[in-house]
Amino acid sequence: MKCENLDKCPFYNDKMNINSGLGLMYKRKYCEGDKTKCARYIVSSKLGKEFVPSNLYPNMNKKAEEILKDNKSK
Ligand code: SF4
Repeated sequence: MKCENLDKCPFYNDKMNINSGLGLMYKRKYCEGDKTKCARYIVSSKLGKEFVPSNLYPNMNKKAEEILKDNKSK
């Protein structure tokens, strides 16, 4: 199922620097495939989109976990 953030997501709208082939692969895998595995989606849905760093790519799940952990303990 497509991600509901497609319209506004900087990654999906090519505002983030990424090799276009890889970008396309991620879009298929996450944005148009399984958004629940996307690091940006995870942070945004659990904490809010203001917590999503501008350089967080969909495959950076480890970084997403760190952000969640850091913000839970505060
Ligand atoms: S990068 Fe993540 S949050 Fe952005 S549109 Fe794709 S699945 Fe949604």
